[in-house]
Amino acid sequence: MNIDGKLTAKILRVQLAAEVTELKARYNIQPSLTVIIVADDPASHVYVKNKVKQTQEIGMISNNIKLPSETTENHLLSLLKQLNNDDSVHGILVQLPLPKHIDESAIISAISPDKDVDGFHAMNSGRLFNGEAGALVPCTPQGCVLLAKQHLGEDLSGLHAVVIGRSNIVGKPVAMLLLQENCTVTISHSKTKNLPAMCKQADILIAAVGIANFVKADWVKTGATVIDVGINRISTQEGTTKLVGDVDYDAVFNKCGAITPVPGGVGPMTIACLLKNTLAAAKNSIQLP
Ligand code: NAD
Repeated sequence: MNIDGKLTAKILRVQLAAEVTELKARYNIQPSLTVIIVADDPASHVYVKNKVKQTQEIGMISNNIKLPSETTENHLLSLLKQLNNDDSVHGILVQLPLPKHIDESAIISAISPDKDVDGFHAMNSGRLFNGEAGALVPCTPQGCVLLAKQHLGEDLSGLHAVVIGRSNIVGKPVAMLLLQENCTVTISHSKTKNLPAMCKQADILIAAVGIANFVKADWVKTGATVIDVGINRISTQEGTTKLVGDVDYDAVFNKCGAITPVPGGVGPMTIACLLKNTLAAAKNSIQLP
């Protein structure tokens, strides 16, 4: 069966909207998200437009700061300092990738960990690693776990999760989250030996590789839950292009128990979880649990 990311994200946004309304009514605080975008990457602009729309739709304040590609690292650092000190700003997100002359890790480190709604700051990675409450956890990994639970229920204890990919934004944090859910977790990557045999052991298989249709049907255990994070644009025989995931969806569909489609799976959950983090940051700012 299909795990419907669009619907799951919509339900999450409805829940968040209700919490935003309550926060406004009881504490007179309206969560606000500032997104900074440097340069003119068309894909990033589309993505940011969606973020702005969905932020406003659930009653949050959305600030969008567009900067030219020649923006200096120092300028961006001083802007972040200003936003860090502004109590009316609860969440800050710098859209990646940044132009080559700007050091991304310096920028991520300069965002206040309490406003780091992408969850990329080392303080938040450390909190996640330590299993501490209050971590702002990267959005795509949160979405993956919510989608796995959508099919398997709340209790993932004892299931074997195999993650393909070890990036800081998907592979590593999703592995940590699954460990917190009491899964037995294997992280595999480009140097893993006999990857198909490794994947075949998975009750939950998370593919975050970036290679179109990489995971084949004979790598998948019958009945497994497959979460496809990949977003790859490929050419079609008709001369157009289309988006596909890292999993050979058509072949795997009949073998697995459930699978997230691309598009319409993990993607919509990423933005919904960004809004969830923004709400959490706003609540934290007034010491609400
Ligand atoms: P990345 O390039 O940083 O990491 C890819 C990982 O795949 C690496 O850790 C590498 O070890 C592993 N890998 C590469 N080749 C491999 C091979 N042959 N065998 C096994 N492992 C291999 O990518 P990322 O940022 O983690 O993103 C992964 C994919 O997820 C991309 O397609 C990206 O577009 C997509 N993505 C989607 C969302 C979303 O919202 N849906 C968010 C982030 C990333």
